[in-house]
Amino acid sequence: MSAAYCNVALPVPLRTTFTYAVPEALRGQVSPGSRVLAPFRKKSLVGVVVEMVETPPDDAKIREISKVLDLVPALTPKLIELGHWIVGYYLAPIGEVFRAMLPPVTDLSLRREIVLSEAGRNLVADFQAGKALTDLSVQQVDFLQKLSEKKGPMLLGSSAKLGIAPEDLQRLQRRGFLEIRESMQGRKRKTQRIVAWKGSEDSSAQLGEKEERVRSLLTTERGPLPLAKLLKLAEVSRAVVERMLRDGWLESWEEAIDPAEDPFDSGYIPPAHSLNEAQERAFAAVRSRFELGEFGVLLLHGVTGSGKTEVYLRSVQEALARGKTALVLVPEIALTLWIGRQCRAWFGAHFEGVAVLHSALSDVERAREWWRVRNGQARVVVGTRSAIFAPVENLGLIIVDEEQENSYKQEETPRYHGRDVAIVRAKLESAAALLGSATPSLETYHHAVNGKYELLRIATRVENRLLASVEIVDLRQDFAHTFQTSPISKALHEGIAECLEFHTQALVLINRRGYSWSVLCRSCGASVQCVNCSISMTHHKSRNRLECHYCGSIQPVPKTCPKCDSKYVYFFGEGSEHLEERLRKEFPGGRIARLDRDTARTKQQYQETLGAFAGGALDILVGTQMLAKGHDFQRVTLVGVVSADSSLSLPDFRAAERTFQLLTQVAGRAGRGELPGRVLIQTFYPEHYAIQDAVHQDYLSFYERELTFRRLMGYPPFSSLANVIVRDKNLENAIRWSRRLSEYFSPHDGKGVRVLGPASAPLARLKKEHRYQFLLKSPKRSLLTKLLSGALSFCGGNEIPQTAVLVDMDPLSLL
Ligand code: ADP
Ligand code: ZN
Ligand code: ZN
Repeated sequence: MSAAYCNVALPVPLRTTFTYAVPEALRGQVSPGSRVLAPFRKKSLVGVVVEMVETPPDDAKIREISKVLDLVPALTPKLIELGHWIVGYYLAPIGEVFRAMLPPVTDLSLRREIVLSEAGRNLVADFQAGKALTDLSVQQVDFLQKLSEKKGPMLLGSSAKLGIAPEDLQRLQRRGFLEIRESMQGRKRKTQRIVAWKGSEDSSAQLGEKEERVRSLLTTERGPLPLAKLLKLAEVSRAVVERMLRDGWLESWEEAIDPAEDPFDSGYIPPAHSLNEAQERAFAAVRSRFELGEFGVLLLHGVTGSGKTEVYLRSVQEALARGKTALVLVPEIALTLWIGRQCRAWFGAHFEGVAVLHSALSDVERAREWWRVRNGQARVVVGTRSAIFAPVENLGLIIVDEEQENSYKQEETPRYHGRDVAIVRAKLESAAALLGSATPSLETYHHAVNGKYELLRIATRVENRLLASVEIVDLRQDFAHTFQTSPISKALHEGIAECLEFHTQALVLINRRGYSWSVLCRSCGASVQCVNCSISMTHHKSRNRLECHYCGSIQPVPKTCPKCDSKYVYFFGEGSEHLEERLRKEFPGGRIARLDRDTARTKQQYQETLGAFAGGALDILVGTQMLAKGHDFQRVTLVGVVSADSSLSLPDFRAAERTFQLLTQVAGRAGRGELPGRVLIQTFYPEHYAIQDAVHQDYLSFYERELTFRRLMGYPPFSSLANVIVRDKNLENAIRWSRRLSEYFSPHDGKGVRVLGPASAPLARLKKEHRYQFLLKSPKRSLLTKLLSGALSFCGGNEIPQTAVLVDMDPLSLL
């Protein structure tokens, strides 16, 4: 007898599951991991069953689930276990955790087809030839026979119609006699309409509530979106969007649904390298780990250009050869295309395929890839952060490339770290986790040094290519000689001129986008701040307006000071847009392009610019951090870093680590081909160890010095941190609640946990919300978790809304 009740995690920001009754007709179809449609308040929500319950709860008004979405539960038991771990560790609302793990619910009618497999066909043939089949029931064999007689595919429908019980069907599927495939129904269009925010010159006009939702989605929350998706997310009618298009707030264009940069470029032939000695040694260590067949973490610390990708690919191959599956996580979407393509070329033909999962896929594409994985058709998954939840079974290997990248941390609820979840998942599934980096995070390297992880090292580039030579440009001296305030020093100018002369390429990195990142009044000293956030507005010259980089609000460019009406308004702090303009002036003959979030608003634009640079159609590429990661450009001989200091001066204990990593990564972009590379780092603090060690590309030296600092200060890895933000649009509420919460914290302060705060958060106001902050620090994580879960129950009992308190465990940023 199957259970009559189930606990469902619903996508609401509450820290609880909800119990529903399972109606008679649906019993036997529901099990942990099934997605169900459940009534909640006045809506129906898609949730996931996390537990079956035998005894009815006391509540008399218990409601019934109305529909079961999956025949095969969407989540595997291991994924449910992983979800519970995330809930406990990150203290995240359970429904939001499970929502992050589920495939998108697509509007398109998915057609599920039941097809006989090779094994199924053989079995029917045997049966017809008179062989006895002892271990299958009559119903099961009947069904297989019926299936073999059918001309087209059989659609998955109610079990009464099919003439087989769901359990029997599942059993046949599990034993490989039949497959359940999903196919998209009709409506297969080649292009879709993309809508983007354009703003208008007259930005003083007030936006209505609906228009505001559209604006916010198209700017800070998502960026340009397909029309259908926009309508759904913003919950507005088509008429609203059409009016906004007419009024010049929006722009729109047609884009191919599967753009040209199809990750599965079938003609691609990967370069065949036999592993060199160092790669071979690293790979051998992975192989022995597989031989043990148990959980373990390996850290592959290989300098940039040491051929780590090759080691990854062999390791995946090895996992597949042992009948296992593999997950490959990369820090950004562009790299999923690149590594996905290589995986496809290696494994696509032999093994049912490779799936690619990332957030720039449409819901339909993502659902298709997700179910290919769930159905066992794809055994290699390449993706960004959330691909860690890919429903692979029989997992043998998880690779986390560039494990130190911040993009693995999700900065919205649930605030998990993809790398850390990867390690926990590997442990749950007795798999190996292979972390790779040229600049491992301090925490990871610390574990490797302590023997918790196995350390594999590749100290040289492939074919003994040299690392780029790195030089410092001391901006104080440069100024003393030239008396110029241009962000392009004499040395950098000469370096670029040389590249142009010898037809090689240059990358120029700057950390801010926009034209000027601060607007000040010289008379009264006021700076122009965002109306919603305590942040300076950034001037965007080509769009002729000021923008907030946190909430996306815009303002007209002031001609006079908004406070005192003085006309001495001063723009300062040069961003990427300004730098591009300067470079064009200084190098009129150069072919120059800029790559940042403003110029690469869609993946197509991004690919186009990178493609043009890789193909030699450009000489100079200027841009933000986007340039630093992963790319393998062969003709780059010069990398210039305009200001290494901007990231050093942030109020953040990870500032030095970030600066070192960024400089080392970007230096790794130079000299990857036959030509040697040169890196120029402009700085006002050449003595800082983060800069010195980056110049010598000496990871170990940096690690030692930074570790000493962390030990002294009691920062991770010597302690665990949690950041707690109390926020509300109403200032009094934010103050009252943080005071009340501090009444809970203060008696515990000092008993194994240090509690700092409440203090105004560095970003005191963000998206119209006032923010107060507590910083919790403890050498023992379990104490921290205990105190925080106590705090959350305290909030419940003291009328502090759950949504007003945000917990960030292991925060990467303390803003
Ligand atoms: P990393 O990720 O360590 O920075 P990559 O994996 O991108 O380095 O490899 C750098 C380059 O070296 C690539 O172009 C790759 O094709 C090439 N390569 C990899 N292994 C070898 C090898 N054994 N011999 C020669 N070239 C190799
Ligand atoms: Zn003024
Ligand atoms: Zn703002």
